[in-house]
Amino acid sequence: MSENRKFISGIVPPQERSAPAWWFIFMIDKLLVHQEPESVTVPFLIDPNELGLTVMGKNYLGQLDDRHCYAVEVAEGTLPPAGMTFEGLRQVYGRLDENLFWIAARAVQIVDWDRTHQFCGRCGAPLRVKTTERAKECPKCGLLHFPRLAPAIIVLVERGKELLLARSRHFMPGMYSVLAGFVEPGESLEEAVVREVREEVGISVKDIKYFGSQPWPFPHSLMIGFTATYAGGNISVDDSEIEDAGWFTADNLPRIPGKISIARKLIDWFIDKQGGRLTS
Ligand SMILES: [Zn+2]
Repeated sequence: MSENRKFISGIVPPQERSAPAWWFIFMIDKLLVHQEPESVTVPFLIDPNELGLTVMGKNYLGQLDDRHCYAVEVAEGTLPPAGMTFEGLRQVYGRLDENLFWIAARAVQIVDWDRTHQFCGRCGAPLRVKTTERAKECPKCGLLHFPRLAPAIIVLVERGKELLLARSRHFMPGMYSVLAGFVEPGESLEEAVVREVREEVGISVKDIKYFGSQPWPFPHSLMIGFTATYAGGNISVDDSEIEDAGWFTADNLPRIPGKISIARKLIDWFIDKQGGRLTS
């Protein structure tokens, strides 16, 4: 899923470039996009100065089909050029080409990391970008600073023809999803699955199997998906995070997350297995 097969990540930009490149231009976490009737796209230019914008912090991302990609940012309050808007990534999903979308999901995290890692957290010296890996190095004390990445597990628990769905307090009204939570230091992914399910709904699970993973740039998670089988216990909701949870069948589902998410891919996988098919 979301495998950018045509995208090759890179750190060192080309020394000379005469062809246009894709520019992922952010104002904080909002992406600058061209508005087209049914879709949006990102600027494809020699230089973003062509748009009359003052950009900061140029980060090279790599190549999409031999076209170079850069992430930059503009100051807060910058007005978009004519025919363009700044939009959140969730809002452009489905309207921006899928490959460009997932590069934008990288770009927003690189830009955020670059902005928030200007100085060494140990000695305060200005950091230097490394050219051998996606990292910054302190020239004074040598400490390495990598982009932040928070791993989180997400798990579909099945019980025969039923799957477990829960409602978090911050979901849209009526929406249910599979369980998810951040991995704690020192914990394996499988241990995180067992703990999250127990903490959130009070049941135990077995047969934990890897499903797939997905970057989730809100703001810097990596979702690692699993399936698991119910092993015992009754649902008892942890009311600090979850307000309701229950067993659902493929033909009796509540409102579920959109296709951008690995949550939805897990649910679709289960529905397919039951011989059903969701259309939207
Ligand atoms: Zn230092």
